[in-house]
Amino acid sequence: MDTNPDSPPSDTSPNASSCPGGTGGASSSSSAPSPSRYEAQKRRDWNTFGQYLKNHRPPLSLSRCSGAHVLEFLRYLDQFGKTKVHAQMCPFFGHPNPPAPCPCPLRQAWGSLDALIGRLRAAYEENGGKPEANPFGARAVRLYLREVRELQAKARGISYEKKKRKKPSQGGGGGSLQEHQPQTSSSSAGAT
Ligand SMILES: [Zn+2]
Repeated sequence: MDTNPDSPPSDTSPNASSCPGGTGGASSSSSAPSPSRYEAQKRRDWNTFGQYLKNHRPPLSLSRCSGAHVLEFLRYLDQFGKTKVHAQMCPFFGHPNPPAPCPCPLRQAWGSLDALIGRLRAAYEENGGKPEANPFGARAVRLYLREVRELQAKARGISYEKKKRKKPSQGGGGGSLQEHQPQTSSSSAGAT
């Protein structure tokens, strides 16, 4: 459990040593959010995953990569997460904005993981992977993401209300259903 703050992968560190390629822009120093931001992020994510494969023990090649390995990768990323996910026994379980710190772990927000998988899935095929073998589209990965979404929604009192199965809601902290963008991790600004 060493939280190694070495290089948080999904952060916006200007670490991309490779040129952005694609549309060869002459002046790429404009601060406007260009449409190729997605491409740049995708490239970064792909590099991060490549790095992960490289460091994997035992060694793992992309062609042998399965959905299970993708899950491993996602769990590995959790150590760099910034989203507080309360355990069930935490008094703040179900509170979107807890009034005090607690020892619950920080995780990657569901929205980040979901977007990440989307980008990696595209990158995999752009890099020659076969769609039918795409580990990022594996059923296990979809199930995992759904699980994370529900867990985080419950832990933070957030409802992602898309298509929820009807279920007997036991007396949690009911009533605090809020629409909330999962993307922003602003609510977890408090340091550990
Ligand atoms: Zn907590």
